[in-house]
Amino acid sequence: MRKVVKFGGSSLASAEQFKKVRDIILADKERKFVVPSAPGKRDADDTKVTDMLYACYDLAEQGKDFKTQMQAIKTRYQEIIDGLELKLSLDDEFKVIEKNFKDKAGSDYAASRGEFLNGIIMANYLGYEFVDAAEVIRFDENGEFEAEITNDRLKERLDGMESAVIPGFYGAYEDGKVKTFSRGGSDITGSIVARAIKANVYENWTDVSGVLIADPHIIYKPEGIETITYKELRELSYMGFGVLHEDAIFPVRREGIPINIRNTNAPEDSGTWIVESTCQKSKYVITGIAGKKGFCAVNIDKDMMNSEIGFGRKVLQAFEENGISFEHVPSGIDTMTVFVHQDEFMHKEQQVVSGIHRLAEPDRIDIEADLALIAVVGRGMKSTRGTAGRIFSALAHSNVNVKMIDQGSSELNIIIGVANSDFETAIKAIYDIFVRIQI
Ligand code: ASP
Repeated sequence: MRKVVKFGGSSLASAEQFKKVRDIILADKERKFVVPSAPGKRDADDTKVTDMLYACYDLAEQGKDFKTQMQAIKTRYQEIIDGLELKLSLDDEFKVIEKNFKDKAGSDYAASRGEFLNGIIMANYLGYEFVDAAEVIRFDENGEFEAEITNDRLKERLDGMESAVIPGFYGAYEDGKVKTFSRGGSDITGSIVARAIKANVYENWTDVSGVLIADPHIIYKPEGIETITYKELRELSYMGFGVLHEDAIFPVRREGIPINIRNTNAPEDSGTWIVESTCQKSKYVITGIAGKKGFCAVNIDKDMMNSEIGFGRKVLQAFEENGISFEHVPSGIDTMTVFVHQDEFMHKEQQVVSGIHRLAEPDRIDIEADLALIAVVGRGMKSTRGTAGRIFSALAHSNVNVKMIDQGSSELNIIIGVANSDFETAIKAIYDIFVRIQI
C-alpha cells in the first residue's frame, strides 16, 4: 500500500513547517511519494516564492537588473536549509537559474523553479530520491497536458523505487522546455503521481481541515464536509470552491483513488474524503454551496421557437463565432436564455447580438447584467423531495428574487441565478435552511 502526499505552499513556507511535514511523513510508512509546492506565505503580509519568481523574471525579461529580487529568493531557501540544519548548497542551481533568466527562458521556467528547489530540499531532508518533473510530465506542442504519455513515463521511472520526491506544478514539452500548469497546479501533479503508482490514497495536505460546506468569507464558521464525491466536488470547484485545483480530480478518478484533504497544522483531524462513490449519506441533504458573481443573461424571444428545429444551434453559433463560451442555457416555450461571463461578453456583445439576429432571426433580444450563479450540490437531493421548494421559500423569506433555476438531470445540483447584490444573502439563506435549521 502506497500513498502520495502533496504539500501546499503554506505547509512548506518555513523550516518549522518542513519539520511538521517530515513528522507527518514519518508517522505513516505508506507515505513514500511526496509532491511539494513552492514555499508559500509565512504570514498574511508575506509573498509566495512563486510570485517572487514571476516578478524577478519580469525584470530579467525587460533586460533590467534582478539581483536584489533573486537574492531575496535565495534567502528564503537558505533560511529553510539553515533551519533544518542540512548540509546542502543550492549555489549551483542558482547559477543555472540566473543564467537562464538572462537568456529569457520564459516565465513558466521561472515560476517552476519554486517547486524544483523546494523538491531538492525536501528530498535531501527525507533521504528520498529526487525526480525532476520536467523529465516525466509531458505537454504537447499546444501546451495541453499529455495524460497517457506522462502516465507511461512516470510508471517506468518510479517503478521499483522505494520513495521519491517529485516537485509539483510543472512538466515540459517534448523538447525539454519547461511548462507549468495553471496556478495551484501542484494539486494536479499529486494526482498524476497517485495514478501512476496506483496509490491507495492521494493525501493533499493544506492549511485547512478539509472542505467546508460554504465559503467562510460569507458564512461564519461553516461546517466541514466529511465525504464528497468527485462529481460533487467538480461541480463545486467549477463554481469557485477553492480547496483543490479543479483539474486535479481527473487523473485519480481514472483509477478510483480517493483524495484525502488534510491539515498540516492539525494532522489529527481526519479531513475530507473525496471519493468516486459512497453509500455514506452526507449529513445534510446538500453537500456544499458555491457560487460566482459576474454573469450576463442574454434572453432571446421568438414566437413558436419550440417547434423550430435548429434554433438553439443557430443562437449558440453566434456565441461560438465570437469565441465566447456559455455557462447555462435554460429555455422556455418561446424563450431561451444564455448565461455568459460578463467580462468576456462585454466587449463583444453587439457582435453577438447582430450574429443572433442574422443566424436565428429572433423577435427580441434582451440583455441582463450583474448576475450571480449559485450551485447547490448534493448527492442526497436525488432521494429527497422538496429540495427546490425549500430553496425557493428560503430565498423568498430573505427577499431574494430568483432570476433563473436550472436542475441538471443527474439531480446532483441546482443552479440558481440571482442579482450580484443578492449573492451573499442568498448563500446565507440556503445554508441556514439546510444546515442550521433542519426540518
Ligand atoms: N506554486 C504554484 C502556485 O503558487 C503552484 C502550487 O502551489 O500549486 O500557484
